[in-house]
Amino acid sequence: MFDGGVALNEVQESVLRCPNCQVAMRTETREGIEVERCPQCNGLWLDYAELDLVEDRVFADDHAKATLVYDERSSSGLCPRCSTTLHAFNYRGWNLELQMCEAQHGFWLDAGEDERILELMRQRQKDLDRSATAEEEWGQFVSGLKSRSFAQKSRGVLDKLRAPAPDRPSKLVLQLPWRKRFVLFWRLFRDGRVPFLAKLVIPGILFYLALPFDVIPDFIPFIGFIDDLFVAILGLWLFLRLTPRAIFDEHIDRLGAEIEEESRRR
Ligand SMILES: [Zn+2]
Ligand SMILES: [Zn+2]
Repeated sequence: MFDGGVALNEVQESVLRCPNCQVAMRTETREGIEVERCPQCNGLWLDYAELDLVEDRVFADDHAKATLVYDERSSSGLCPRCSTTLHAFNYRGWNLELQMCEAQHGFWLDAGEDERILELMRQRQKDLDRSATAEEEWGQFVSGLKSRSFAQKSRGVLDKLRAPAPDRPSKLVLQLPWRKRFVLFWRLFRDGRVPFLAKLVIPGILFYLALPFDVIPDFIPFIGFIDDLFVAILGLWLFLRLTPRAIFDEHIDRLGAEIEEESRRR
């Protein structure tokens, strides 16, 4: 390439390429809002750099905050600004699939999705007899998507989705040494915040174990204890299910700290 690198870079930066087709996109203005449209696949890129102020007015409380729920899906498209893979998710308030750059450069809408939004808004207007036109609402919707705070909210949700799911209580119990398992159950049983219904399970187990008539009589060697074992495990599992997770975690953390302390003293 020749030496006019700076000027060339500036030109390249201003030309955004379609995440799917890599074709240069064209700037389009709809309802006063600039969007980039791919001439080949007709998809829409919403770069939200300049539109921070519009968001709070339009996107304040009604649909955005309450319905920002996503199903993250993998996507093959690349961000036109930074070329990292976009993340696809569902914007459920509108049952609309969006793709988002994690570095918060903007959103991608596949071809026809904007038309679908418009159609939805026209329908809503018919139902509600609103004063604003569907086109105006579409413009407000898009400017909402283009705002920085919307992107930040979405990113927060993506981060949450990516955080590892907490381990099941039963798995955490099995990671404890035998003696500590008894300590855990004893402490949970004594904890005033654990629901009474959960606590009922423990005497229930003991009652079954003490019961003279089992499903399988205990005098049959080994097999006779299988049902007792089964009831005990099932009961303890039920007890854990009925115990609030936060309280369980608190006790697990405390036990973990105690085990660590004991091993340090040795
Ligand atoms: Zn395209
Ligand atoms: Zn990006």
